[in-house]
Amino acid sequence: MARAALMLALLLCFAAAARADGLLGATGYKMAGDATKMRIVVNFDSEPDVKWFLLRGPNRLVVDLPRTRFALEAKDVKPRGLVRAVRYGDQGHGSRLILTGKGPFAVDKLDVLKNDDGTGYRIAIDMSAASEREFDEALANQSLTTGSTVSTEKGGRVGTGPVSAPGHRFTVVIDPGHGGVDGGAESSAGTVEKDVTLAFAKELRDKLAAAGKYDVFMTRDDDVYLALDERVRIARQHEADLLISIHADTIAVKGLRGATVYTTSVGLINNPQRSAGFKVLKAPDVPSVLVELGYLSNSKDEAQLLSADWRGKAAQSITNAVALFAAAKAGTATGG
Ligand SMILES: [Zn+2]
Repeated sequence: MARAALMLALLLCFAAAARADGLLGATGYKMAGDATKMRIVVNFDSEPDVKWFLLRGPNRLVVDLPRTRFALEAKDVKPRGLVRAVRYGDQGHGSRLILTGKGPFAVDKLDVLKNDDGTGYRIAIDMSAASEREFDEALANQSLTTGSTVSTEKGGRVGTGPVSAPGHRFTVVIDPGHGGVDGGAESSAGTVEKDVTLAFAKELRDKLAAAGKYDVFMTRDDDVYLALDERVRIARQHEADLLISIHADTIAVKGLRGATVYTTSVGLINNPQRSAGFKVLKAPDVPSVLVELGYLSNSKDEAQLLSADWRGKAAQSITNAVALFAAAKAGTATGG
């Protein structure tokens, strides 16, 4: 009991001392989301006067603060999702919080808000994955921005949204399923899905590039692990008009074989027989298709998947389908 009282007295002394030094106190940090979208909340003991701006090389959000005493937990500021690094500290006359993005991003919102429970204030930041062009546009348009209790919605200031740059070519991002520690399906003969998807993706990339009309990117071009949100972030970074995910899964139904294309937002090819295997890619702003090349559980499918000749033909038919989709999209765009 006496000990608790002593602790309390010490804490009160600390609090008094903290206030006496005249510094703003950053008392907590929270970060939630994934590689496509993050919310960051920083708590303060009094109202912070903030200014923020973007820097590139690498893509950073800089928040300027009055001189601040940071009492943040190391585990809370551990980078994750869209944020690759969190740094903070003294900077000349004030202090600074710097968030480095995993790639280009948009600041959708940065607000200074009063906590409802009366324990101080917080900065709430919403950021989402964007393209380099969108980041540069926001960079060019920015003057120092002051956070306020009035919400700063993204508008003219931050260039995000579906409007593409003039001269933007139809852009395809090819996403070979699985990779790294995630091998995907495996046939009884030992063929691993991640290798099949990568081999096919490279074939498709070359076919699409040879058409000379598209910008083509891959989410991975070697054997690395990528989480789904990171794949979507990469598609956004390139302003993909179409994200093509490649798979060759195993399935328990005997006699089911052949290539199928599942689409989330376009109708390329569809095989209703396979609708039970429908998989949705959560990329609502990027038209996405999931191509099941065949099933590694079927030995005939497996033989095809391992045939360079078959892969070439299948890649060509997908390239033809992409041409139809791109033409349809261009028609819609020019038709107003
Ligand atoms: Zn798969």
